[in-house]
Amino acid sequence: MKTLLVAEYRQGKVQESYTELMAFADKLGADSAMFIVGDSAGQLPKFQGTLHVAEVDDFGEYNPDVHKYLLLDVVAQERPDMVVFCHSSYGWDLAPRVAVSLKAPQISEVIDVEDGAMVVPACNAKLRRTIVGSGDVTVVTIQAGAFSLGEAGNGIPNVAPVIGDYQGVVNLLGYEAAEHGGVDLTKSEVIVSAGRGVGKPENVSMIEQLAQALGGEYGASRPVVDAEWVAHNRQVGTTGLTVSPKLYVACGISGAVQHLAGMKKSEFVVAINTDKDAPIGEVADVFAVADLKQLLPVLTEKIQTL
Ligand SMILES: Cc1cc2nc3c(=O)[nH]c(=O)nc-3n(C[C@H](O)[C@H](O)[C@H](O)COP(=O)(O)OP(=O)(O)OC[C@H]3O[C@@H](n4cnc5c(N)ncnc54)[C@H](O)[C@@H]3O)c2cc1C
Repeated sequence: MKTLLVAEYRQGKVQESYTELMAFADKLGADSAMFIVGDSAGQLPKFQGTLHVAEVDDFGEYNPDVHKYLLLDVVAQERPDMVVFCHSSYGWDLAPRVAVSLKAPQISEVIDVEDGAMVVPACNAKLRRTIVGSGDVTVVTIQAGAFSLGEAGNGIPNVAPVIGDYQGVVNLLGYEAAEHGGVDLTKSEVIVSAGRGVGKPENVSMIEQLAQALGGEYGASRPVVDAEWVAHNRQVGTTGLTVSPKLYVACGISGAVQHLAGMKKSEFVVAINTDKDAPIGEVADVFAVADLKQLLPVLTEKIQTL
C-alpha cells in the first residue's frame, strides 16, 4: 500500500494538518510520499521521505487548475494506491477535481481505518459506514482531528522539485479574515457550550448564565449555530474554532468527531447529557447524566453563592 499525502500551505506557512495525513498513513501501514505547493526555501513539512515541492507564484496560494495539474504529474510518477487530502476547504475543492481527472472513486471525511477499509460517518454521525475503494487509485479526505501523531513530525524530507508551467482560469486574490465580533473563544479559559440538546433558543440563556457564573464565555456546536440560536464566531469544531480552555462544559452535545476536533485539547471537560452512552463521554473527565434544563439552573445558582 502506498499513499500520496497532499499537504497544505497558506499565507506563507505549512499547515500543521500534514501530521494528521502522516498519522493516517501510519494507521494504514502504508509507505508514503508527500506533495505540497509551497516555498522550498521556507518552512517545509517535517516528513521522512520524498517530499514533492511545486513552487508557483505567491508560493502556492490556491489555484485549482494549477494545483491539480501539478499533483497529477506527481501521481503519474509515484503511482500511489491512495491520494490523501485533509477534509479542509482545500481538500473539499481539490480532491474531487483530482478524482474526476483520475476517474477514481473518492471516499470523503474518513474518521478511522479498520483492516485497511475506510470508516466514514453516516446519518449525521449517528452511524458509521465502512468503505473500500475500487480501482487502482482511490482519493480520500480525512476528517480533522480524527488521526493524530501525538507529536509534531521530526523527519527530514528528501525534496523533489515539481516543475510545471501551468495556467489556471481562476486566480486567488487574497484572504479576508472573518469578523471576531467582540469575542475570541480561543483565548477563553472557561467555555460552556450549547448543543442541540438545549432544545430551543430560549434555553441558550442557561448556558450563558453558567458561563458568566464561571467567569467564562459561551460557545456552541454547529447545529445550534446553523439554527441561528448562537452567532457563528462562537462555533467550536472543524468548521468553527479550535479551543483549549482550562475548563470546557459541553451541555447537550453528543461528541461528534467534528466537534471533538475543536475542543479535545481542553484541560478539563465536563459533559452534561441525558444519554449515558453519548460519545462525548470518551473525552469527559466528569460526565453528568442529567437533563441540562434541570441541572444548569441549580448548578449556576450554587456557583453564584460560592
Ligand atoms: C463537514 C462537517 C463539518 C462540521 N463541523 C462542525 C463543527 O465545526 N462543529 C460542530 O459542533 N459540528 C460540526 N459538524 C456537525 C457534527 O457532525 C454534528 O452533527 C454536531 O456536532 C452535532 O451537534 P450536537 O452534539 O449539538 O447535536 P446532536 O448530535 O444532535 O446531540 C445532541 C445531544 O444532546 C443530548 N440531549 C438531548 N436533550 C438533552 C437534555 N435535555 N439535556 C442534556 N442532554 C440532552 C442528546 O443525548 C445528544 O447527545 C460538522 C459536520 C460536517 C459534515
